[in-house]
Amino acid sequence: MKRLFCCPVCYKEYEIKPEKCSCGFTDFIKEVDYFEQSRELYEKYENDLLFSLYKFTKAVFYGKIPYAPDVLDVIDHPSNKEIYIKGACGNRGLALVKLEGDRPCVADDGILAFDKTNALIIDVDEITSNLLDESLVKILFLGPKCKIENNRLLRNSLKYLVVHRDNPYYSSEDNVLFSKDKRTLLYYPNYKKGEEYTVPSFVTHIEKSAFRYPYELNKIYIGKHVKFDKKMFDFDDLKHIEIVCI
Ligand SMILES: [Zn+2]
Repeated sequence: MKRLFCCPVCYKEYEIKPEKCSCGFTDFIKEVDYFEQSRELYEKYENDLLFSLYKFTKAVFYGKIPYAPDVLDVIDHPSNKEIYIKGACGNRGLALVKLEGDRPCVADDGILAFDKTNALIIDVDEITSNLLDESLVKILFLGPKCKIENNRLLRNSLKYLVVHRDNPYYSSEDNVLFSKDKRTLLYYPNYKKGEEYTVPSFVTHIEKSAFRYPYELNKIYIGKHVKFDKKMFDFDDLKHIEIVCI
């Protein structure tokens, strides 16, 4: 069977490893056949490819690689204060959602629902809590002015999360979302790598829904000075988590 190199950005396939894809992606990884080889190797291939896409997304985010924004499905009534983005139609592994203009724009629930997009750069004024509903997005980059509705991101399949350094509302560290001053831990991506997590010492408060539906996590170390509602771990998806006060 032929081994292929598949571009995670534009999905173009190559028989021989290319120097550079026409979309700008360079970091190709040889595809592994799950049936011929092992499940572990296949998972490693998928994780490595996702990490390559993460690196590409970061380069686009900080303007190092030119990338055209997605065509957007918008609702724009002149009487509304905001422009609402209902969908992004790039059909690429990385969606770039950006709208230039004077009026504020809001990216609405499920803008990438049923799309094959794995990475999203969102450069708007506000996103709804359900932005990633029914989507496959695993990599999220929040732009310099982007605010999240109620500061809450709801259940999804995120593994990587990065906030632009100029964002006035949030910051990120080790793929975890914090308030700008880093005192409040707002959101722990549910597909974040690692079975254990230590809440950083600068945190004084944990948001109630910060740890919902974790995939690998089973132990959290929390400093004694940190304020959080212990009931937040009573949900069925969190009952297995061991909380260690340090
Ligand atoms: Zn490509």
